[in-house]
Amino acid sequence: MAHDATEEQIKAIVKKVEEKGLKAEISKGAERTVIGVVGINAISYREAFAHMPGIHEIVPISTPYKLASREFKREDSVVRVGDVNIGPGTLTVIAGPCSVENEHMLMETAWAVKKAGAKLLRGGAFKPRTSPYTFQGLGEEGLRLLAEARKATGLGVVSEVMSPGDVEVVAQYVDMLQIGTRNMQNYPLLQEVGRTQKPVLLKRGMSSTVEEWLLSAEYLLSRGNKNVVLCERGIRTFEHATRFTLDINAVPLVKELSHLPVIVDPSHGTGKWSLVGPVSLAAVAAGASGLLIEVHPKPEEALSDGAQSLTIEAFNDLMSKIKKLCTALDIKID
Ligand code: PEP
Ligand code: MN
Repeated sequence: MAHDATEEQIKAIVKKVEEKGLKAEISKGAERTVIGVVGINAISYREAFAHMPGIHEIVPISTPYKLASREFKREDSVVRVGDVNIGPGTLTVIAGPCSVENEHMLMETAWAVKKAGAKLLRGGAFKPRTSPYTFQGLGEEGLRLLAEARKATGLGVVSEVMSPGDVEVVAQYVDMLQIGTRNMQNYPLLQEVGRTQKPVLLKRGMSSTVEEWLLSAEYLLSRGNKNVVLCERGIRTFEHATRFTLDINAVPLVKELSHLPVIVDPSHGTGKWSLVGPVSLAAVAAGASGLLIEVHPKPEEALSDGAQSLTIEAFNDLMSKIKKLCTALDIKID
Protein backbone atom coordinates (compact mmCIF):
# COMPACT_ATOMS: atom_id res chain seq x y z
CA MET A 1 0.00 0.00 0.00
CA ALA A 2 1.05 3.60 -0.50
CA HIS A 3 2.55 5.05 2.67
CA ASP A 4 -0.43 7.43 3.02
CA ALA A 5 -3.07 4.75 2.35
CA THR A 6 -6.08 5.10 4.65
CA GLU A 7 -7.65 2.41 6.85
CA GLU A 8 -10.74 2.52 4.60
CA GLN A 9 -8.63 1.81 1.53
CA ILE A 10 -6.97 -1.12 3.29
CA LYS A 11 -10.37 -2.45 4.41
CA ALA A 12 -11.76 -2.15 0.89
CA ILE A 13 -8.94 -4.27 -0.48
CA VAL A 14 -9.28 -6.90 2.23
CA LYS A 15 -13.01 -7.10 1.47
CA LYS A 16 -12.39 -7.58 -2.23
CA VAL A 17 -9.70 -10.20 -1.58
CA GLU A 18 -12.16 -12.17 0.53
CA GLU A 19 -14.89 -11.81 -2.08
CA LYS A 20 -12.54 -13.55 -4.54
CA GLY A 21 -12.26 -16.48 -2.13
CA LEU A 22 -8.68 -15.54 -1.21
CA LYS A 23 -7.13 -14.68 2.16
CA ALA A 24 -5.67 -11.29 3.09
CA GLU A 25 -2.70 -11.29 5.47
CA ILE A 26 -1.81 -7.83 6.69
CA SER A 27 1.72 -6.94 7.71
CA LYS A 28 2.12 -3.43 9.15
CA GLY A 29 5.73 -2.34 8.78
CA ALA A 30 7.44 0.83 9.94
CA GLU A 31 7.08 2.45 6.52
CA ARG A 32 4.11 0.83 4.88
CA THR A 33 1.41 -1.79 5.15
CA VAL A 34 1.67 -4.87 2.97
CA ILE A 35 -1.42 -6.92 2.19
CA GLY A 36 -0.43 -10.46 1.33
CA VAL A 37 -3.00 -12.09 -0.91
CA VAL A 38 -2.84 -15.83 -0.54
CA GLY A 39 -4.74 -18.57 -2.22
CA ILE A 40 -4.58 -20.79 -5.24
CA ASN A 41 -3.44 -18.82 -8.29
CA ALA A 42 -3.91 -15.50 -6.46
CA ILE A 43 -1.81 -13.58 -8.98
CA SER A 44 -4.39 -14.21 -11.73
CA TYR A 45 -6.66 -11.67 -9.96
CA ARG A 46 -4.05 -8.94 -10.28
CA GLU A 47 -6.01 -6.86 -12.81
CA ALA A 48 -9.08 -6.78 -10.60
CA PHE A 49 -7.11 -4.81 -7.99
CA ALA A 50 -4.90 -2.71 -10.24
CA HIS A 51 -6.94 0.51 -10.03
CA MET A 52 -8.03 0.43 -6.43
CA PRO A 53 -7.03 3.54 -4.47
CA GLY A 54 -4.24 3.34 -1.92
CA ILE A 55 -2.20 0.69 -3.71
CA HIS A 56 1.47 1.47 -4.29
CA GLU A 57 2.28 -1.64 -6.31
CA ILE A 58 1.21 -5.23 -6.83
CA VAL A 59 4.19 -7.56 -6.66
CA PRO A 60 4.08 -11.29 -7.24
CA ILE A 61 6.11 -13.08 -4.57
CA SER A 62 8.62 -15.15 -6.48
CA THR A 63 9.15 -17.89 -3.89
CA PRO A 64 6.72 -20.78 -3.33
CA TYR A 65 6.47 -19.84 0.36
CA LYS A 66 4.80 -16.46 0.68
CA LEU A 67 4.10 -15.42 4.29
CA ALA A 68 7.51 -16.74 5.37
CA SER A 69 9.33 -14.70 2.73
CA ARG A 70 11.31 -11.49 3.11
CA GLU A 71 9.43 -10.22 0.07
CA PHE A 72 6.22 -10.29 2.09
CA LYS A 73 7.69 -8.91 5.30
CA ARG A 74 10.91 -6.91 5.25
CA GLU A 75 11.34 -6.44 9.00
CA ASP A 76 12.73 -9.29 11.10
CA SER A 77 10.07 -11.04 13.14
CA VAL A 78 10.42 -11.29 16.89
CA VAL A 79 8.83 -14.29 18.59
CA ARG A 80 7.91 -13.85 22.22
CA VAL A 81 8.11 -16.98 24.38
CA GLY A 82 6.98 -16.25 27.94
CA ASP A 83 8.95 -13.10 28.71
CA VAL A 84 11.78 -13.84 26.27
CA ASN A 85 12.08 -12.26 22.81
CA ILE A 86 13.67 -14.37 20.07
CA GLY A 87 14.80 -12.20 17.20
CA PRO A 88 17.41 -9.83 15.81
CA GLY A 89 20.19 -8.41 17.97
CA THR A 90 19.65 -10.92 20.74
CA LEU A 91 20.82 -14.43 21.52
CA THR A 92 18.42 -16.75 23.34
CA VAL A 93 19.98 -19.86 24.83
CA ILE A 94 17.59 -22.78 25.23
CA ALA A 95 19.09 -25.65 27.19
CA GLY A 96 18.16 -28.82 29.02
CA PRO A 97 18.26 -32.57 28.80
CA CYS A 98 17.35 -34.45 25.63
CA SER A 99 14.69 -36.31 27.67
CA VAL A 100 12.99 -35.49 30.92
CA GLU A 101 14.06 -38.56 32.92
CA ASN A 102 12.99 -37.79 36.49
CA GLU A 103 12.27 -34.84 38.74
CA HIS A 104 15.68 -34.70 40.38
CA MET A 105 17.75 -34.52 37.20
CA LEU A 106 15.36 -32.05 35.60
CA MET A 107 15.44 -29.66 38.56
CA GLU A 108 19.20 -29.91 38.87
CA THR A 109 19.63 -29.13 35.16
CA ALA A 110 17.03 -26.36 35.18
CA TRP A 111 18.66 -24.43 38.03
CA ALA A 112 22.13 -24.94 36.55
CA VAL A 113 21.26 -23.71 33.05
CA LYS A 114 19.36 -20.77 34.49
CA LYS A 115 22.35 -19.79 36.59
CA ALA A 116 24.60 -20.00 33.54
CA GLY A 117 22.34 -17.67 31.52
CA ALA A 118 19.94 -19.90 29.57
CA LYS A 119 16.52 -18.27 29.16
CA LEU A 120 14.38 -21.29 28.29
CA LEU A 121 14.41 -24.90 29.50
CA ARG A 122 13.94 -27.67 26.96
CA GLY A 123 13.26 -31.31 27.71
CA GLY A 124 11.63 -34.07 25.69
CA ALA A 125 8.57 -35.87 27.06
CA PHE A 126 7.33 -37.44 23.83
CA LYS A 127 10.52 -38.69 22.20
CA PRO A 128 10.85 -39.58 18.50
CA ARG A 129 13.35 -42.41 18.84
CA THR A 130 14.77 -44.19 15.81
CA SER A 131 14.51 -47.55 17.56
CA PRO A 132 11.30 -48.70 19.26
CA TYR A 133 13.44 -50.50 21.85
CA THR A 134 14.95 -47.33 23.34
CA PHE A 135 13.52 -44.93 25.96
CA GLN A 136 10.41 -43.29 24.51
CA GLY A 137 10.00 -40.51 27.08
CA LEU A 138 7.75 -40.06 30.11
CA GLY A 139 4.82 -38.63 28.13
CA GLU A 140 2.43 -36.42 30.09
CA GLU A 141 4.30 -37.08 33.34
CA GLY A 142 7.36 -35.47 31.71
CA LEU A 143 5.28 -32.42 30.79
CA ARG A 144 4.07 -32.15 34.36
CA LEU A 145 7.68 -32.17 35.59
CA LEU A 146 8.56 -29.45 33.08
CA ALA A 147 5.69 -27.32 34.36
CA GLU A 148 7.01 -27.80 37.90
CA ALA A 149 10.48 -26.77 36.80
CA ARG A 150 8.99 -23.63 35.27
CA LYS A 151 7.15 -22.85 38.47
CA ALA A 152 10.30 -23.27 40.54
CA THR A 153 12.81 -21.50 38.30
CA GLY A 154 10.69 -19.09 36.25
CA LEU A 155 12.20 -20.45 33.03
CA GLY A 156 9.78 -20.86 30.11
CA VAL A 157 9.66 -24.46 28.88
CA VAL A 158 9.88 -26.08 25.45
CA SER A 159 8.95 -29.64 24.51
CA GLU A 160 8.33 -31.68 21.39
CA VAL A 161 4.94 -32.69 20.08
CA MET A 162 4.85 -35.61 17.67
CA SER A 163 1.25 -36.18 16.74
CA PRO A 164 -1.72 -33.94 15.93
CA GLY A 165 -3.75 -35.60 18.68
CA ASP A 166 -1.22 -34.56 21.35
CA VAL A 167 -1.04 -30.87 20.42
CA GLU A 168 -3.72 -29.80 22.86
CA VAL A 169 -2.24 -31.56 25.86
CA VAL A 170 1.38 -30.53 25.16
CA ALA A 171 0.29 -26.91 24.55
CA GLN A 172 -1.37 -26.86 27.98
CA TYR A 173 1.97 -27.41 29.71
CA VAL A 174 4.62 -25.68 27.60
CA ASP A 175 5.51 -22.18 26.43
CA MET A 176 6.84 -23.37 23.09
CA LEU A 177 6.10 -26.45 20.98
CA GLN A 178 8.99 -28.18 19.24
CA ILE A 179 8.43 -29.90 15.92
CA GLY A 180 11.32 -32.30 15.44
CA THR A 181 13.35 -33.11 12.38
CA ARG A 182 11.41 -36.32 11.73
CA ASN A 183 8.11 -34.45 11.72
CA MET A 184 9.01 -31.37 9.72
CA GLN A 185 6.87 -32.69 6.88
CA ASN A 186 4.10 -34.15 9.02
CA TYR A 187 1.46 -31.92 7.46
CA PRO A 188 -1.46 -32.85 9.72
CA LEU A 189 0.78 -31.98 12.69
CA LEU A 190 1.81 -28.66 11.11
CA GLN A 191 -1.82 -27.81 10.48
CA GLU A 192 -2.84 -28.60 14.03
CA VAL A 193 0.03 -26.61 15.54
CA GLY A 194 -0.77 -23.82 13.07
CA ARG A 195 -4.24 -23.53 14.59
CA THR A 196 -2.77 -22.64 17.98
CA GLN A 197 -0.99 -19.40 18.81
CA LYS A 198 1.75 -21.21 20.73
CA PRO A 199 5.29 -20.30 19.70
CA VAL A 200 6.80 -23.10 17.61
CA LEU A 201 10.37 -24.28 17.22
CA LEU A 202 10.42 -25.81 13.76
CA LYS A 203 13.46 -27.98 13.25
CA ARG A 204 14.78 -28.56 9.77
CA GLY A 205 14.14 -32.03 8.39
CA MET A 206 17.42 -33.93 8.29
CA SER A 207 16.98 -34.52 4.55
CA SER A 208 15.08 -31.37 3.70
CA THR A 209 16.11 -28.46 1.55
CA VAL A 210 15.86 -24.90 2.82
CA GLU A 211 12.89 -24.39 0.51
CA GLU A 212 11.03 -27.41 1.92
CA TRP A 213 11.76 -26.16 5.43
CA LEU A 214 10.33 -22.72 4.65
CA LEU A 215 7.28 -24.34 3.06
CA SER A 216 6.71 -26.21 6.32
CA ALA A 217 6.90 -22.86 8.13
CA GLU A 218 4.35 -21.61 5.58
CA TYR A 219 1.89 -24.28 6.73
CA LEU A 220 2.10 -22.88 10.26
CA LEU A 221 1.88 -19.24 9.17
CA SER A 222 -0.96 -19.81 6.73
CA ARG A 223 -2.98 -21.54 9.45
CA GLY A 224 -2.65 -18.41 11.57
CA ASN A 225 0.30 -19.16 13.84
CA LYS A 226 2.82 -16.38 13.28
CA ASN A 227 5.10 -17.36 16.17
CA VAL A 228 7.53 -19.53 14.25
CA VAL A 229 11.24 -19.93 15.06
CA LEU A 230 13.35 -21.99 12.64
CA CYS A 231 16.05 -24.33 13.95
CA GLU A 232 18.95 -25.64 11.88
CA ARG A 233 19.93 -28.99 13.45
CA GLY A 234 22.16 -30.64 10.87
CA ILE A 235 21.44 -32.57 7.70
CA ARG A 236 22.41 -35.95 6.28
CA THR A 237 25.47 -35.95 4.05
CA PHE A 238 28.07 -38.52 2.95
CA GLU A 239 30.09 -37.61 6.06
CA HIS A 240 29.75 -40.15 8.84
CA ALA A 241 32.49 -38.90 11.13
CA THR A 242 29.86 -36.72 12.81
CA ARG A 243 26.21 -37.59 13.48
CA PHE A 244 24.91 -34.93 11.06
CA THR A 245 26.46 -32.07 9.10
CA LEU A 246 25.43 -28.73 10.54
CA ASP A 247 24.57 -26.50 7.60
CA ILE A 248 25.96 -23.20 8.83
CA ASN A 249 25.22 -21.67 5.41
CA ALA A 250 21.54 -22.05 6.17
CA VAL A 251 21.71 -19.42 8.92
CA PRO A 252 22.62 -16.35 6.84
CA LEU A 253 20.76 -17.78 3.82
CA VAL A 254 17.46 -18.20 5.65
CA LYS A 255 17.86 -14.72 7.09
CA GLU A 256 18.04 -13.40 3.54
CA LEU A 257 15.05 -15.42 2.38
CA SER A 258 12.81 -15.09 5.43
CA HIS A 259 11.94 -12.68 8.24
CA LEU A 260 11.59 -15.54 10.75
CA PRO A 261 14.20 -15.94 13.50
CA VAL A 262 16.71 -18.77 13.02
CA ILE A 263 18.43 -20.63 15.81
CA VAL A 264 20.96 -23.48 15.77
CA ASP A 265 21.08 -26.84 17.55
CA PRO A 266 24.79 -27.75 17.72
CA SER A 267 24.06 -30.83 19.85
CA HIS A 268 22.21 -32.82 17.18
CA GLY A 269 24.17 -31.02 14.46
CA THR A 270 27.41 -32.60 15.66
CA GLY A 271 26.39 -35.56 17.85
CA LYS A 272 29.60 -35.13 19.83
CA TRP A 273 29.84 -33.05 23.00
CA SER A 274 33.40 -31.89 22.33
CA LEU A 275 32.27 -30.19 19.10
CA VAL A 276 29.25 -28.43 20.62
CA GLY A 277 31.24 -25.46 21.99
CA PRO A 278 33.12 -24.48 18.82
CA VAL A 279 30.04 -24.97 16.63
CA SER A 280 27.91 -22.89 19.03
CA LEU A 281 30.35 -20.01 18.67
CA ALA A 282 30.31 -20.39 14.87
CA ALA A 283 26.50 -20.25 14.91
CA VAL A 284 26.47 -17.03 16.93
CA ALA A 285 29.07 -15.53 14.59
CA ALA A 286 26.96 -16.56 11.58
CA GLY A 287 23.98 -14.64 12.96
CA ALA A 288 21.83 -17.21 14.77
CA SER A 289 19.25 -15.68 17.12
CA GLY A 290 19.56 -18.53 19.55
CA LEU A 291 21.10 -21.87 20.46
CA LEU A 292 19.50 -25.12 21.56
CA ILE A 293 21.97 -27.07 23.68
CA GLU A 294 21.57 -30.43 25.39
CA VAL A 295 22.85 -30.47 28.97
CA HIS A 296 22.79 -33.39 31.42
CA PRO A 297 24.18 -33.60 34.98
CA LYS A 298 25.59 -37.06 34.16
CA PRO A 299 25.77 -37.51 30.38
CA GLU A 300 27.21 -41.01 30.77
CA GLU A 301 23.94 -42.09 32.41
CA ALA A 302 21.57 -40.23 30.06
CA LEU A 303 18.66 -42.23 28.64
CA SER A 304 19.07 -40.47 25.28
CA ASP A 305 21.75 -38.46 23.47
CA GLY A 306 24.36 -38.65 26.25
CA ALA A 307 27.25 -38.51 23.77
CA GLN A 308 26.27 -35.04 22.63
CA SER A 309 25.17 -33.65 26.00
CA LEU A 310 27.30 -31.15 27.86
CA THR A 311 27.97 -31.55 31.56
CA ILE A 312 26.90 -28.60 33.69
CA GLU A 313 30.54 -27.63 34.01
CA ALA A 314 31.11 -27.70 30.23
CA PHE A 315 27.91 -25.68 29.72
CA ASN A 316 29.08 -23.03 32.21
CA ASP A 317 32.38 -22.84 30.41
CA LEU A 318 30.68 -22.47 27.02
CA MET A 319 28.30 -19.79 28.30
CA SER A 320 31.19 -17.64 29.45
CA LYS A 321 32.72 -17.87 25.95
CA ILE A 322 29.34 -17.10 24.35
CA LYS A 323 28.99 -14.02 26.55
CA LYS A 324 32.39 -12.73 25.44
CA LEU A 325 31.52 -13.28 21.80
CA CYS A 326 28.16 -11.55 22.20
CA THR A 327 29.83 -8.55 23.80
CA ALA A 328 32.28 -8.34 20.89
CA LEU A 329 29.44 -8.58 18.35
CA ASP A 330 27.11 -6.24 20.23
CA ILE A 331 24.48 -8.94 20.74
CA LYS A 332 22.27 -8.89 23.81
CA ILE A 333 21.69 -12.16 25.66
CA ASP A 334 17.93 -12.57 26.21
C1 PEP B 1 15.72 -33.48 20.24
O1 PEP B 1 15.70 -32.23 20.19
O2 PEP B 1 16.05 -34.12 21.23
C2 PEP B 1 15.45 -34.18 18.98
C3 PEP B 1 14.97 -35.42 18.94
O3 PEP B 1 15.78 -33.41 17.93
P1 PEP B 1 15.72 -33.69 16.35
O4 PEP B 1 14.27 -33.71 16.02
O5 PEP B 1 16.46 -32.51 15.78
O6 PEP B 1 16.43 -34.99 16.10
MN1 MN C 1 18.18 -35.19 21.67
